[in-house]
Amino acid sequence: MVEFKGRDGNLVLADSDGTLVWSTNTTGKSVSGLNLTETGILVLFDTTNRTVWQSFDHPTDCLLHGQNLVSGQKLTASVSAGNSSQENPDSLYYSFDGQTLTALQYPPTSIAQYIQLGYDGHLRVYQLDNLEISLFGLNWKVVGDILTLNECDYPMVCGRYSICANGGQCTCPVEVNFFQPFSERNPDLGCTELMSISCDSSQYHSLVELKNTAYFSFRFNDELNSSVFWLKGKKIEDCRRACLSNCSCKAVVYDPYLNVSLLRGNCLLLNEVFSLMDVGVGTVFLKVQNSPNAPVIFPRQKTPFKVIIGCTLIGIILILSVCSALSKKRSEKRKAGGFLDLEPILPGILTRFSYNELKIITQDFSIKLGKGGFGSVYEGTLRNGTKIAVKHLDGVGQVKESFLTEVKTVGGIHHINLVKLIGYCAEKSHRLLIYEYMVNGSLDRWITQENGLTWNTRQRIISDIAKGLAYLHEDCSHKIIHLDIKPQNILIDQNFNAKISDFGLSKLIEKDKSKVVTRMRGTPGYITPEWLSSIITEKVDVYAFGIVLLEILCGRKNLDWSQTDEEDVHLLTVFTRKAEQEHLTDMVDRNEDMQLHREAVTEMMSLAAWCLQGDFSKRPSMSLVVKALEGLVTVETNLDYNFRNVPKVGAGNQPREAAISSKLPSVLSGPR
Ligand code: ADP
Ligand code: MG
Repeated sequence: MVEFKGRDGNLVLADSDGTLVWSTNTTGKSVSGLNLTETGILVLFDTTNRTVWQSFDHPTDCLLHGQNLVSGQKLTASVSAGNSSQENPDSLYYSFDGQTLTALQYPPTSIAQYIQLGYDGHLRVYQLDNLEISLFGLNWKVVGDILTLNECDYPMVCGRYSICANGGQCTCPVEVNFFQPFSERNPDLGCTELMSISCDSSQYHSLVELKNTAYFSFRFNDELNSSVFWLKGKKIEDCRRACLSNCSCKAVVYDPYLNVSLLRGNCLLLNEVFSLMDVGVGTVFLKVQNSPNAPVIFPRQKTPFKVIIGCTLIGIILILSVCSALSKKRSEKRKAGGFLDLEPILPGILTRFSYNELKIITQDFSIKLGKGGFGSVYEGTLRNGTKIAVKHLDGVGQVKESFLTEVKTVGGIHHINLVKLIGYCAEKSHRLLIYEYMVNGSLDRWITQENGLTWNTRQRIISDIAKGLAYLHEDCSHKIIHLDIKPQNILIDQNFNAKISDFGLSKLIEKDKSKVVTRMRGTPGYITPEWLSSIITEKVDVYAFGIVLLEILCGRKNLDWSQTDEEDVHLLTVFTRKAEQEHLTDMVDRNEDMQLHREAVTEMMSLAAWCLQGDFSKRPSMSLVVKALEGLVTVETNLDYNFRNVPKVGAGNQPREAAISSKLPSVLSGPR
């Protein structure tokens, strides 16, 4: 979005969310006009036709033919992905005299060319492919890749926190258990922290050491870059301390090779961690967040064989001794008439609770957090002060074996954006599930709140939900379709991270053949059109995600019976109408911060529309949604805003749909 601010002659480029990208700073310089020259230079001129400002002097991520990059200037990559095909390095596209890099045109007959610094760190030459100018716009082809760095030297070659080894292989740090691949299938998308760093609990920060690891800017003494900070001639301890005492520091890169005898070296404090390099020199310390009561321990794959054996042995011995100690202690307590020795809950291992224990923990089920279709949720406190949420399932009493199998499966699924199952109880006819407690409750409470969440927080929540779902659908060993995505099942922790709850519950409940199985699953308003044709794929979750996304953007419930106008009760009906009238901005939450970012919010509505396509095959996968949120792919533009347009599979679809949609709320109050 480019806009002229006021009439003062200043040209401003703002990002889609309204943040300033650059401005010409030409206020008061009597700018009278703007011209885009044939060679692609944007010129601001004054009344005497004198050039006041021109884009050639201010490169961003591109260099055009004839443009110079002089010493002191820099190119900054934008966050969207470029074309990543490799071409032969070619020095014909530029000249460099040690001070100035000039973009040249080669061959001179080519119609248009530019050089762009990509998000991945490649400096590529693009050329207009005149044979392929199509209806869809211009087609730019990569014809050269100017920098010839080693594969691992590119800053984002493996994504964040990922280690690049010979041949460009990417792996998450294995020595530690704090990271996991963002996507198991695409290791070069980087790693995510299992627990994000929170400045409010910096006492639980620590640094994990990665030996023989380096960082790309190690090689460049880059004082210009604001995301790094050099400390010179320091002891390793001083560097570590400096990073731990500054919350924005995310990692320390240590170069010991200077002044070895003094045990001092240079270190780099990073505010942002791009790809790391497995090069046999240097040490990197990554800052991680430890949980006060549950360190996360899930070994990752690709650990060297010896380490696996070693860890397994130590693990088995540890578990055996802890279990025997626990059971001994418990039986002692039991003998003494107590039940409460439940701490610590072992990470990664489900705790089996007795019904009596749960009664005590929840003070006889006295604090109710909420009620859903399968029972109620109560607050409980373990003796060590850890709060938990206890879900009492009604009507699943008969199933025992399958209940345990499913509970174990669900208990083995871990992701930072999924609510952790920490225990269960299966005793007589009681079936209970024990979850980590989420202080800020469920998302529904925040959506309709007056002066609700800021745009920034909402964006984070949206991306958390998308990542959690993408993990369920694509990355965990058991593909799980949630079937009940709705704001009540998105829980918010103390740092406003969003986590999906009740995943796997659909499967677990379905084992009970006596109940609900034959009924449609889900919650009114979040059920997709294809239930009617009974083709159920993970796209039902994508649809429900679309609704939740729209609710977050609009700050209202999907079904809002308080609306005076009947036309406005269904959010989707409003969405279709406003899209037709091209008045989507009307739908943006009235909240002040959201209004400030109306443009970006409205733009994200198209992502919601994509997820809501009546034809499920047109909806994106959740991993695509995650990429769209990161700006790595663009949202489909050919969208149908009539979301009830389902491709007809057979006769009789339409009347059935009408009948069910008018009755939805009463027919389907069951499953949660
Ligand atoms: P539903 O998801 O349909 O609302 P549930 O039985 O799953 O029904 O949960 C009822 C309510 O209890 C939720 O809406 C939420 O507000 C609250 N709740 C559930 N789990 C937790 C938890 N782990 N921490 C805090 N609150 C929770
Ligand atoms: Mg729930």
